[in-house]
Amino acid sequence: MFKKTAKHKARIFASQPYENYKTHRRAIRQAIQSVLENEQYILGPEVDAFEREFAAFIGVKYALGVASGTDALCLALRACGVERGDRVITVSHTAVATVAAIELVGAVPLFVDINPVTYNMDPGDLERTLKTYASSKSVARVKAVMIVHLYGQPAEMDRLVVIARKYGLKVVEDCAQAAGALFNGRRAGSLGDIAAFSFYPTKNLGALGDGGAVTTKNKQFAEKVRLLREYGWKKRYISSIPGMNSRLDELQAAILRVKLPFLDRENTRRGQIANYYTNHLKDVLIKVPIPASGTRPSYHQFVIQTYKRDSLRKHLQAAGIGVSIHYPAPVHLQPAYRGRVRMSPKGLPNTESISKRILSLPIFPELTAREIRFVAQKILAWCANQAD
Ligand SMILES: *Cc1c(COP(=O)(O)O)cnc(C)c1O
Repeated sequence: MFKKTAKHKARIFASQPYENYKTHRRAIRQAIQSVLENEQYILGPEVDAFEREFAAFIGVKYALGVASGTDALCLALRACGVERGDRVITVSHTAVATVAAIELVGAVPLFVDINPVTYNMDPGDLERTLKTYASSKSVARVKAVMIVHLYGQPAEMDRLVVIARKYGLKVVEDCAQAAGALFNGRRAGSLGDIAAFSFYPTKNLGALGDGGAVTTKNKQFAEKVRLLREYGWKKRYISSIPGMNSRLDELQAAILRVKLPFLDRENTRRGQIANYYTNHLKDVLIKVPIPASGTRPSYHQFVIQTYKRDSLRKHLQAAGIGVSIHYPAPVHLQPAYRGRVRMSPKGLPNTESISKRILSLPIFPELTAREIRFVAQKILAWCANQAD
């Protein structure tokens, strides 16, 4: 049986945006064609329509298209009042963009540890860190907490938001991996003060180029993002505040409008793949992710843990299975940040130990049942060969 599967020369990608383009090819080509003839290429009718549709989908009043997820994070921080020198609490177990955005607006990241089961910010360590900073008087400079819904698993927002409010902090959500994820029936991106999304091609809602969005229920914050993303213009060519250029283009907005109506269905398919892995990878060597209660993840990644990670990774790669590690090093240990970033008084033990054990399995809506079965079989075969 294994001989047979090996013969078809498996080549299974970790994620494959081209497959999703093929799923929607005809509608995407039509959408692109009509933009080309529309005579407007930046911030036009397609962006307006996408912003309305995306806001409705997330369940907020405002969505603003911007040039990338990183820009969306920067603009969200600036819109809710984070200024140069302010501190922003976040996690180190995340895409580097989360932290880069905080520094790009001149603020100072302050890391707290994660819960190793949910992979997300640990409410207990958030509270501990704020208490420490409160007694050292510098808590006044902590302005916001940036909560990442990593791998599309919503963080424990109920507890985190209560703690943030107690200390008067703004809550910014990094939803780059969580488009469509639900927490107690509400979408990620509607749970804090303001949120950022990325439409990088590999994300659950992927454009065919760069793109991002900011979502919020707050009218002032929305207006600030609207000004900041285009030179602070209230009226064309007249800057009322100093701004920048971070615009979504019409082609990307038109492509996103084709894909948005299918996002829930595609996330459901990701959830089925996750269930298959969860139900079949029952081995003491493998820990599957456990979403926090009351959440429906978007399953951007399906990340298992095993203490023999590098051996499993080699085994799967040799079988033609694209696996990756999100992320091989926490941000605070990367050369650009090491030694100069601040963190929780207890350090970041969960963050540091998890990066040696994690492995992301292939998960995207177009994976076939046969491919998923092949991945699970290869993992179980590896488990069976581990003597001890
Ligand atoms: C992808 C990603 C970003 C950045 O988005 P870009 O569009 O690539 O700038 C930020 N945060 C997280 C968690 C991401 O996964």
